[in-house]
This record gives sequence, C-alpha cells and structure tokens, in this order.
Amino acid sequence: MNSRRLFLKQAGLLAAATSTGAPAVVRAADVARRDADAIPRHIIHLVADGTSSGTLTLGDCFSTMTRGRGLRWLELAGRPEVEQALMNVRSLNSLVTDSAAASSAWGSGSRVMNGSLNLLPDGRKLHPLHPVFGEAGWKRGLVTTTEITHATPAGFVATAKREEAESIAAQYLAARIEVLLGGGKKFFDPAQRSDKRDLYADYRTAGYAVMTQADQLEQAHLDQPWLGTFSSSHLPYTLDHQHDQRLRKEVPTLAQMTRRALQKLGREDRFLLQIEGGRVDHAAHANDIAAAVQDVVAFDEAIEACLEFQRSEPGTLLIITTDHGTANPGLNGSGGAFGSKPPLFANVAKAGASFGEISRLVGSNPAAGKIQEVLAETTGYKAPDRKAAFLASFFAKKGLVMYEAMNSVSLQLGQLLANFSGVGWTGGDHTADYVAVHAFGPGAARFKGFLQNTDLFHQYLALARIDFRNPEVPLLAETGPSAASVEPLESWV
Ligand SMILES: [Zn+2]
Repeated sequence: MNSRRLFLKQAGLLAAATSTGAPAVVRAADVARRDADAIPRHIIHLVADGTSSGTLTLGDCFSTMTRGRGLRWLELAGRPEVEQALMNVRSLNSLVTDSAAASSAWGSGSRVMNGSLNLLPDGRKLHPLHPVFGEAGWKRGLVTTTEITHATPAGFVATAKREEAESIAAQYLAARIEVLLGGGKKFFDPAQRSDKRDLYADYRTAGYAVMTQADQLEQAHLDQPWLGTFSSSHLPYTLDHQHDQRLRKEVPTLAQMTRRALQKLGREDRFLLQIEGGRVDHAAHANDIAAAVQDVVAFDEAIEACLEFQRSEPGTLLIITTDHGTANPGLNGSGGAFGSKPPLFANVAKAGASFGEISRLVGSNPAAGKIQEVLAETTGYKAPDRKAAFLASFFAKKGLVMYEAMNSVSLQLGQLLANFSGVGWTGGDHTADYVAVHAFGPGAARFKGFLQNTDLFHQYLALARIDFRNPEVPLLAETGPSAASVEPLESWV
C-alpha cells in the first residue's frame, strides 16, 4: 500500500487543515456550490438502489398522500442551489448494469463486468474509494438496509465477485472501515460461515463495537469503530417493519442508522459515507409497489437526517442518486379523462404486508381461496375467482404468460394487484435507464449535465485533492440473445 502513497498527493490546504484540526472550508452551501473547486470536508453518497424514475414519482405521490408533503429529495431538486445531472449507469459488458458493476464504477472509476466488484476481466484488482480515501486520512462509513456485504456497499471497499460475501466481510475489517451498519449477520457468525471463522470476535479484537440490536446502536461509544448487523440477511422491508413490533424494537430504520453514523463521523475532520436504501430495488424486482414506495419514503427520511447534519456542517457535500432503474413501474391512467373514477393509487396505502410476507402466509402451493383470503387481509383487494385461480397456476409452476420475463409468482401477483393499484411494470429486472443525480453543498457544481457513473469516482478524488487513477478497459460488446435466437414474427402467422 505504501507505494500507492506516491500517487496520493494532498493539496496544501487540506494538509494544513489536518495539522491544525481546523475545517478546510466552511461556508454556506449555496455560496460554495458556485465554486466547483470548493473543498468539502464531508462527502455523503446516498443511493436509493434500483429507483426508476417511475418509482421515485410514485414514492413522491405516496408521500403526499400519506404524509401531506412530497419527498424532500424532489423538493431539493427544485432549489436553485441544487445541481442536477443525468447519469449513464451501464456496465463494462451490458447496457443493463447490476449493482456490483454500478457501485464499482463509482468505487473505482473503472467499468467492470456485471457480478464483479472492482475486478477487471483479466483479474486485475482495482483500488476502491474507501481504501484510497483512508490512505489520505479520511474516515469511511457504509450504511445500508441490505446485507452490509451486499454489492452496493461492497463496491466502495472490496475486490471480489459479488457473491463472495464472507470474503467481503473480512475485507471490511482489513480496510478498517470506521462505520458498518446494515444486515448480514450470517457472514460474520462462526456458526454460519463456511470457514467457521469467528469474524465478530476478530472485529472485537480489532477494537470494534459489535452490535446486533437497535438499542446497542443508540448506546455505542463514539470513539470506537462500529460493526452493526441487525438481521441475518437484509433488513426487513419498511412495510413489514412498521407492522411488526418485535422488528421495530430490534432493527433500526435507515434514518436511525444514518443519524448515529453522522453523530460518530461528524466528530471527524473528514469523512466519506455511503448510505443505501437497498430494498427499493428488491421490492421493484418483486413488482411490489407498496413495499417499494414505503422504502423510498424511508430513504427520504435518511436524506432529512443528512440535511440536518449539513445545516450544522455546511462543509458537507450530498450526492443523491440511484445505481439503475428496476422494473420501471408506472401509474397508468384509468377511467374517463383518467380521473373521473376514484384514483386507484390510494389503495397502495392499504397494504399491510410485503409480497414476501404474503407469499409466506399463502404457503407454497395454495388454492385460489387461500390466495383470496390472504390478499383481502393484507392488501384490501378482493381478487375475482378466475384471477385467483390464474395466480394459483403459477404457484403450481403451470402458469403461462405472453412475455416470459413476467413468468413468476411474484410478478403475476404484481399484475393481479395492478388491477387494484393502477401500477403496471415492464418486467422484474434492472433496466438501462439513465438516472438522475442531485448534488448539494461545496463542490456540487461538478455534478451537472450528462455524466458517466465512473465520473463520480474522479470527481470525489478531485474534491479531496487525491491524484490517483485506476486502469480501465474498453467496453465489451453486448452479450445476449443473437438476432437468430429471437423468435421470428412469421412463426405467429
Ligand atoms: Zn437489483
């Protein structure tokens, strides 16, 4: 690592700030944003994973409907001092990225294959953002509602295949990341790790406060590094969290984790923190609009916590974005003039359980009547007999659809409930959409126009006055069905 120090040239201003402990630059965010060279002391990178513009729109509508105000995210977007950009999020091998390649693009400034974390196809390892910033004296944090080892947080720290979660859990310790908060106990617990290594013990030996319950997070000492894992796998959907008293007690919300992370890191001279609302993506994969919009609102509450922090620490740059779209939901017009009937979307607020929970309640191969009963209880929707029977055929693996990408129980449940919510979907996976970036605070002027996701890495380093570049390789041709393998239209005639 020492040889790389040769590349890390700190600007005189930052070096001076370190030696005196004084803030490098402290001035009002709306003044600083006019100066692309302003130096933030704190960078907070907020990702609502898999948030298509339709998901953001519906999150805003849901927020207005249930909280009497729209999302803070979009309110910010309307402020003159907030910069906006559109971003291309493609990976090295595809127009459609996965979260590993997308986070690696931010994390190393280099595009990689889907499924890879900061690894080039020839096996070369890239140096990710958090280790690079750590060498320059910045403290680092990851806060997420997914497993802490999941692709988006890992993209700032690890070099691995995305499924190598046990290795990623150990790489965080080696990199001494100061704040780690999310899910994924199973990758630290010796009883569940394939190598039986007691990673929790290793973190404790290294001085970490190790937490597994929400109240421990509230009491954790600010002068220790933190590892908080609050669920075996991902944290629950906000929708399920709100309806389960035990979960509310044991598992912190994204906003609670964000506030605590900022209380701790805010004592430091400089820090780089990634905050991920990771389950928006999972809800969209499932075509579960109620779970998706509730997690968008939970992410928005984390934005609120960051804005509060920024008010007291104006040297803070906020970047708010997503890594890719997922399943692109949209509220379709219905009724005469699209508005003469009561709006269907209001039904989304009646949901009391995510699709995951609904699926658990109906069991593995339910009769149509059982599906009707559980749906009525958990969503308020009275599914007609014929449609409930149609859905039952998917549980029995006998379902038939026109568009094969929709051939799953969850996606057909999404189609069924589209009759109730008015929300339709394009599929169940990631999409190639360009996505929005919003930037607020010193240095925000660098984030406007049309960006590549890799640009964020280079801009963060430029803002920190770190001179370093990872190797890059040319984009690979699309892999996917060749024209010959696509079913010809004539076969239908
Ligand atoms: Zn995804």
